[in-house]
Amino acid sequence: MRFGIDIGHNASPDIGATGIRQEDDLTREVGTRVITRLRSLGHTVIDCTPSRASSVTNSLWQRCNTANVNRVDLFVSIHFNKFNGRANGTEIFVASDAGRSRAQPVLNAIIAMGYFNRGLKNGAHLYVLRNTAAPAMLVECCFIDSRADMDRYNSDRMADAIVQGLTGQTAPPAPPDEDSKPVTEILQLQKTLNQLRITDANNRPLTEDGLPGPATEAATRKLQAVLGLATDGIAGERTWRNIRQVLAKPTLYYNHAAGPAVRYLQFRVGADVDGIFGPGTRAEVMRFQSMNRLVVDGIVGPASWRVLIG
Ligand SMILES: [Zn+2]
Repeated sequence: MRFGIDIGHNASPDIGATGIRQEDDLTREVGTRVITRLRSLGHTVIDCTPSRASSVTNSLWQRCNTANVNRVDLFVSIHFNKFNGRANGTEIFVASDAGRSRAQPVLNAIIAMGYFNRGLKNGAHLYVLRNTAAPAMLVECCFIDSRADMDRYNSDRMADAIVQGLTGQTAPPAPPDEDSKPVTEILQLQKTLNQLRITDANNRPLTEDGLPGPATEAATRKLQAVLGLATDGIAGERTWRNIRQVLAKPTLYYNHAAGPAVRYLQFRVGADVDGIFGPGTRAEVMRFQSMNRLVVDGIVGPASWRVLIG
């Protein structure tokens, strides 16, 4: 999925509203987190936010143009509302049926945190909805001049809700810090390798002791080979990024999936590990489903993933 994410305003003279908090600050907080989370789930994200603009109209034009030139599948503009200090809650503007059906789960996810549901609204008058080719939505997360909304507001939770609404997926936790390699990181790696059923050189599960050593290194190399990465035995940012795409348990099916999660799936079901969900992989998936008394549909969804990695 190719998302166009538009962080509202933040391009003078296109600046947001001021309330208890600044709209520019909040759209940036939430928008950057949405972008990071979508990428960690393996999606392509085009950041449609301009860095400078000659006018408000030019700012809006640039956002739409970036989305259109990059042929995004869905355009999401992130804003915060302001009114009279008493109005509160969440609303999402849409201008098409396709936009409406993509926006409803986002609205549901946000109001589930306790924000008042102001509903989906007709945004046919809004520039960024009128001028984007893809289905589009403009999310008014909540009101920056409402004490109730600002007390409830948390940038991480808001971003999580938007991503969950957009993808149906929950973004995995942030990666371990590359600069320090504390015991917890080795422990995390050992736990993850065991969860992924990646064994050491003697085909034994790892001891979860938080200590680096040849067994953990050998298992890391095995996993890197499965994922098609350089097999240096060191779980760096690239390896973790790939691991997170597997742990996200994306739904995989014939002809519609590729990448690290497919490679891992192929390794587990005994298909050729080439990262492409073709006929051979489908046959092995169906065999795996039959052996595990799952619905034999060749689609790797939550039930199959539960058997694979818990
Ligand atoms: Zn705004």
